[in-house]
Amino acid sequence: MKNNVIPSILPAERLSAIENFGHSISCPVYLYRPVLTEQIADLFEQANKTGATIGLRGAGRSYGDAALNSGGVLLDFRRMNRILEWDPEAGIITVEPGVTIEQLWRYTLDDGWWSPVTPGTMFPTIGGCLGANVHGKNNWKAGTMGEHVLKFNALLPDGRQVTCSPKKNTDLFHAIIGGMGLLGVFTSITLQMKKVYSGNLDVYAWAEPNLKAVLEATDREKENDYIVGWVDCTAGERGLGRGQMHSANYLKPGDDPHPAQTLNADNQDLPDNLFGLIPKSIVWRFLSLATNNLGTWAGNTGKYLMNRTIGHKKRYLQSLVAFTFLLDYVPNWERAYGKGGLIQYQSFLPKETAYEVFTDILKLCKWRRLPSYLGVTKRHRPDKFLFSHAVDGFSLAMDFKVPPRRRSKLIQLTRDLNKIVLEGNGRFYFAKDSTLTPDAVRSFLGEATVKKFKRLKSQVDPEGILQTDLYRRCLGD
Ligand SMILES: Cc1cc2nc3c(=O)[nH]c(=O)nc-3n(C[C@H](O)[C@H](O)[C@H](O)COP(=O)(O)OP(=O)(O)OC[C@H]3O[C@@H](n4cnc5c(N)ncnc54)[C@H](O)[C@@H]3O)c2cc1C
Repeated sequence: MKNNVIPSILPAERLSAIENFGHSISCPVYLYRPVLTEQIADLFEQANKTGATIGLRGAGRSYGDAALNSGGVLLDFRRMNRILEWDPEAGIITVEPGVTIEQLWRYTLDDGWWSPVTPGTMFPTIGGCLGANVHGKNNWKAGTMGEHVLKFNALLPDGRQVTCSPKKNTDLFHAIIGGMGLLGVFTSITLQMKKVYSGNLDVYAWAEPNLKAVLEATDREKENDYIVGWVDCTAGERGLGRGQMHSANYLKPGDDPHPAQTLNADNQDLPDNLFGLIPKSIVWRFLSLATNNLGTWAGNTGKYLMNRTIGHKKRYLQSLVAFTFLLDYVPNWERAYGKGGLIQYQSFLPKETAYEVFTDILKLCKWRRLPSYLGVTKRHRPDKFLFSHAVDGFSLAMDFKVPPRRRSKLIQLTRDLNKIVLEGNGRFYFAKDSTLTPDAVRSFLGEATVKKFKRLKSQVDPEGILQTDLYRRCLGD
C-alpha cells in the first residue's frame, strides 16, 4: 500500500478522519476538494511521481468502504457541482460529477423531467451514482443509471482525458461506469432524463404474508413502473419475510388536473415534521431506543398488522420525491444504529434460486440472533457493465446493526451468507458491501471479468494511483 502524501498540495495538517455512510468504519485521509479538472490533473501528475494513492468520493453514501482511502488522498467532488447544459425540450442534461440527485430533480422537474433511475436517497452525487452504477425500484424496467448516460468525459489516472459513450470508447464506457472510481474520474456527465406529466405517482400498497408471496408479487407486478417489497426479517417461521408491497406508475398526459402545481419542485419537499408535530431532526434519537432485536420485532409486527388491515390494498397519489426517497424522511436515521454503526448486506439471486437462498439467509440470521432490522426486495435485470451486480432475478438488501462486542460474529455471519449466495449463483454490489473477500469477488464476477478489469487498470493507471479501501480488500493482488 502506497501512502506517501503530496506535501505541495496536501500538507500534513490536512489529515482528517472520515467515515462510511454506516458509521461502522473510520479512517484518516488527506481530503482534497477540487473545483476544476486541472486541479485533479495536477494531483494525478504528482501522485504518479510520488506514489501517493488517491480515492474518489462523491457524497460518501456508500454503505461500506467504497469511498474511503485509509492514509491516502481522498478527492471529494461536492464542489464540482455545476449544471453545465440543459435542453428542456429533449430532456438532456450535462452536469459536473458533484451535482446531487436532489439538485438534478430540483432543476428539471418544473420542465417535466425526472431522473430515470435513482437510489432510495436523494443525497448522492451523479458521479458517485455512476461510479457504483446505481439501480432504483424500477431496475427491471429502466435498468441502471448507466443505461441513461449519453456520454461522459473522464480524466484517466495517467493524465489522458477521454469522451466515452455507448458507441465511443465502449470498453471504458462499460468499465468506468460501475468501476467504483478505480479507472477514471467523471468530469462531466450527459444524461437523458425521463419525461413526466405529473409530480405524482399512482401508488398501490398491499401486504403479503411471507417471503414466497412477496417474491411472487414482485415478479407478477414487475411491469409497473416501480415495484418494491419492505420485508420483515424478524417474524416467526411461518411469517418470515412477510412484507408490505408498493407498486407505482407514472401518470399519463391529462391524468393530473394540475400538473404545473405538482411538478413545482417546491411542492415536492418532504415535510419538516412527522405527523405535523415531531421535528424530523430528533426522530432518530427515538428510533435508537427501538433499534434492537426486541424493539425491531415489536415495530415490525405492529407495522405488518397495520399494513394487513388499514393499509391493505390501498391506492393513492404520492409525490415522486416522497415515494422515491422514503428513507430521507428521517434525517440521520442511520445514527439510530448506535456506536458500532450498521452494514448492509445485499445479494442478487437469479429468479430460479432466489426463494430458497433468501429463506436460508433469513433463517441463518435469526438462528445466530443477528436479524436484519430492515429488508428490501427488488426485481432486477442483467446489464452490460463490467462490474454488474444485477441478474434476471431479485435482490434482498438487509441492514445489520454492528454490535461492538459481536462485530466478529457479524462478519463471520456475512462470510457464511456469501457461501449460500454463491452456491445459488448470486452476485453482490460493491456500493453496499463491507465484508466481501477476494475469493468471493472472483467467484461472483468470474475470472475473465477480474482479468479484464486488471488489464484495463494497468492500461489507464500503470502506477496504481486510484485506490480505495474496497479496492485493496476485494481486488488488490
Ligand atoms: C439510504 C440509502 C439508500 C440507498 N439506496 C440505493 C438504491 O436503491 N440503489 C442503489 O443502487 N444504491 C443505493 N444506495 C447506495 C448509493 O446510492 C451508492 O453508494 C452511491 O454510489 C452513492 O453515491 P455518492 O455520491 O455518495 O458516492 P460515494 O459513496 O462517495 O462513492 C461511490 C463510488 O463512486 C466513486 N466515485 C465517486 N465520485 C466519482 C467520480 N467523480 N468519478 C468516478 N468515480 C467516482 C467512489 O470512488 C466510490 O467507489 C443507497 C444508499 C443509502 C445511504
